[in-house]
Amino acid sequence: MKIAIAGSGALGCGFGYMMKKGGHDVTLMDYWEDHIQAVQKNGLTVDVNGETGNVQLPMDKPENIEDTFDTVFIFTKSMGLRAMLEAIEHTLSNDTKIVCLLNGLGHAQTLAEYVLEENVIMGTTVWTAGIDEPGITHLMGQGPVEIQEADPSGKEATLEIVEMMQDVGLNGVYSDNVHFTTWRKACVNGTMNALCALLDANIQELFESSQSQSLITKIITEFSRAAEVENVELDIDEMVTYVTEISESVGAHYPSMHQDITNHRPTEIDFLNGKVAEMSEEYGFDAENCALITELIHAKEDVLGIK
Ligand code: NAD
Repeated sequence: MKIAIAGSGALGCGFGYMMKKGGHDVTLMDYWEDHIQAVQKNGLTVDVNGETGNVQLPMDKPENIEDTFDTVFIFTKSMGLRAMLEAIEHTLSNDTKIVCLLNGLGHAQTLAEYVLEENVIMGTTVWTAGIDEPGITHLMGQGPVEIQEADPSGKEATLEIVEMMQDVGLNGVYSDNVHFTTWRKACVNGTMNALCALLDANIQELFESSQSQSLITKIITEFSRAAEVENVELDIDEMVTYVTEISESVGAHYPSMHQDITNHRPTEIDFLNGKVAEMSEEYGFDAENCALITELIHAKEDVLGIK
């Protein structure tokens, strides 16, 4: 399969590496100059669950790529999605499938502005990844990557991509309700990410605090009201249990929003709690906790001079 990764940070490099190792034709697209130069010079080095390897593959800014691709995986941060879709337009044919695995809400609507619905594949993943230095990243976990086509006509292509991800060890799974999976993942990120960032705590510390169950229940209650607008039913108790079980499996890990704040990078808050707060105004339900959390994270970004 001829594949491009649009946004080749931590997760993009991890996925690109696995697909290249699995024998596919992979091109990385990104804007981080030092990272591009490192990969062009030394190849991409990725540690996957403690085993390190190196692959040689092309990497450049989208405007310097002339090819078109069968499949493009988008791995920008949420706030970079729109600009990336504009930048890669010339690399898409009428049949190119776009796979979007970003955390956060509202991405399907953004994709619909740029890509035919029959070419859109949405999903979530619980692989975790990080950047050690330009050209060197790590990928941890076992997945899965759950995906589903936005339009029924895209099912065959989606199944092919699932099979490709299984073959290369990314643990691809076909989802028959990716909309629910996306909201469930948003509940995980909307609770752990924002609270750990605000409290300067890791996930274990957050869940050991006597306030954690109350805070998490309040946030999930608001997410469930927003999900209902999109006809997704989230059982609050079930979601609290799900998030708590995930916290037990990840332990003393700092979620990505904490890492963003620590590294003075903008957060994805507007696409998580901020999206729920925005929907509450539009559809008239209460989400005062999500609104306050969003304001607090933005205040923290301002205090740290994060643009
Ligand atoms: P990332 O921050 O590693 O990369 C996103 C973009 O930022 C890339 O274009 C990258 O090159 C650029 N970037 C990263 N560090 C930079 C630096 N120091 N200077 C300049 N540019 C830099 O993002 P990610 O972790 O790969 O996440 C991509 C999407 O996947 C997000 O929506 C995220 O929430 C989601 N996600 C991430 C993980 C994870 O464990 N990393 C897991 C599940 C979902």
